[in-house]
Amino acid sequence: MVLLDIFDPKAAPRAIGIDLGTTNSIVAAVREGRPVALTTCDGTALLPSVVYYGGAGQTAVGRAAQARATTEPERTIKSAKRFMGRGADDPETKRLGAYKFATPESESDAKIVRFDLGWTTKTPIDVSAEILRSLKTSAVDQLRSVGGAVITVPAYFDDAQRQATRDAGRLAGLEVLRLLNEPTAAALAYGLEKQKNGLFAVYDLGGGTFDVTILSLEDGVFQVKSTGGDSALGGDDMDREIAERLLVATNVERTPEMVSSALVLARRAKHELTDAPETTVTLGDVPFKVERHEFDKWIEPLLERTGRACRRALRDANVSASEVDGVILVGGATRVPAVRAFVEKLFGKPALDDIDPDLVVAYGAAVQADLLAKSSDEILLLDVLPLSLGVETMGGGVDRILPRNTTIPAGARATFTTYADNQTGFEIHVVQGERELSKDCRSLARFSLKGVPPMPAGMARLDVSFDVDENGLLHVTASERTTGVTQTIEVRPSYGLSDEEVEQMLIDALDYGETDLEARRLADTRVEAERIALATRKALVADRALLVEGELETIEKALESLSAASREAESASPIQRAIDALADATHAFAQRRMNHAIQTALSGKTLTETAERVEHAAGIEAHLEQKRERA
Ligand code: ADP
Ligand code: MG
Repeated sequence: MVLLDIFDPKAAPRAIGIDLGTTNSIVAAVREGRPVALTTCDGTALLPSVVYYGGAGQTAVGRAAQARATTEPERTIKSAKRFMGRGADDPETKRLGAYKFATPESESDAKIVRFDLGWTTKTPIDVSAEILRSLKTSAVDQLRSVGGAVITVPAYFDDAQRQATRDAGRLAGLEVLRLLNEPTAAALAYGLEKQKNGLFAVYDLGGGTFDVTILSLEDGVFQVKSTGGDSALGGDDMDREIAERLLVATNVERTPEMVSSALVLARRAKHELTDAPETTVTLGDVPFKVERHEFDKWIEPLLERTGRACRRALRDANVSASEVDGVILVGGATRVPAVRAFVEKLFGKPALDDIDPDLVVAYGAAVQADLLAKSSDEILLLDVLPLSLGVETMGGGVDRILPRNTTIPAGARATFTTYADNQTGFEIHVVQGERELSKDCRSLARFSLKGVPPMPAGMARLDVSFDVDENGLLHVTASERTTGVTQTIEVRPSYGLSDEEVEQMLIDALDYGETDLEARRLADTRVEAERIALATRKALVADRALLVEGELETIEKALESLSAASREAESASPIQRAIDALADATHAFAQRRMNHAIQTALSGKTLTETAERVEHAAGIEAHLEQKRERA
């Protein structure tokens, strides 16, 4: 039956899972209900993510390409994944600049970095497509036909990086069914959903990326609680630690060829140290001995960096390390004994490692591809928002509507009101980030809601709802409640945001937390001061007749003090005190206005005018209530 299935040309094509790694790539498929890694052109499961571009159009992928790295480093591209979705001016591109880059010819050209190979140029998308094409060819050889592919990406990849990965898949002639986060794929490979409930951490240290994810499992449904990591940290950095010392100890001339050889030797030494307490490599006839305990010391700062990201992810998920039921090790670099020991100490328990850490992500991708091909909805995969989404408020503050790490799909609604009389439009500014003032957040979209009928300030009710769908797309709907005027827009929250930028925004939010809050309080209080002053002036004009002896002077003095405080104060408190004083001075007048309005409601006054007076009095009441609470 199984053989028939495989060789039947009319059989439904199989979907494959691809782990497109920075260092190694793997293709897997579900066969007889289990994921298996397919054999690549190298004859092994792991295909080094290296592409060689010789002159005259010869290309080589995998080990054949790797073999050229020493002799023709400028024509051999490795770690192309690190450059996916990056522009020529990207600081990260410059930082990682082990290659010669082509000078961009135009502004649009600069959006994608190009490797200069001497005789031609290639983008990271071209390089990735070359790897995917090779994997696809292997898969077609073994499965007869390929229906579509799930490709994994680091959880931290932003839209540009994901888009670049999709483009590479398309270029390789693959139908990309879905991009799947690598840590989530690992959890699927372990079949953790069968345990029904639990809390898991996925620690993925590959050659070039580090990802940590906290997953919760509730009634067989996964939820990504938080993600964290570092897109520029991995086993390659360990190689550099060794290579640097090797170059110094052997005192060879640092030609590109020598540096490249040193890196190859360093990696070999690292692999040997996984199984042996010491090893010796020889560069330029000079032997260099490394002991495991020395190596462990050299990589300590790298491990500490992963530890910090883990602690942050735990904090974001609101859990402690001891609450985690299981830790999954993913990525070749977790084979290093010091890494395993570090992780087990951090989480206080032995790590899950039954599945080969090199293959686990590809297995999960294959499982997901198989499910999608069968269009089963057995497993519900949920993701989280990397940064909070909100709207700018009057005065420049931010009201967060969906906080960061909210599981998506998600929706939330907030209600706003008009600030000025007869305001017929609202400006809605959608922002992303953790800072208190909108100018420090990232602007995602601005739009306006027009056609609101004229009403006194504070009377209109504007509902703004945010909905983030399973693809991470944000839909914002604004509608005015009394009239039903509605406006909808769609924004892509993470578009063009690199992981470093997300990281930086989070760091800034922590660094500026205190100052931000004070600035926000000041901005909000200023707006409140203006609002109450405006309402008071209006009331004085409308109901002058209701004032008693001396009241006008008291209120006007309070108004003056308030406007002075608002102008001069550098913190919220003096303004708040002036608002309180004005509320005190206006209280009796506002009550009188309200009572009078209600009494005369039936004799000529319009409903709106009555409502406005009631609203004014209620506003003053609310202020005095808050004042009592503060005291
Ligand atoms: P990526 O996801 O970036 O493609 P992998 O998960 O394939 O990376 O991991 C590659 C890294 O794992 C490389 O740095 C490689 O040197 C390292 N690695 C693989 N096997 C071992 C081993 N036995 N001991 C130590 N490191 C290893
Ligand atoms: Mg990996």
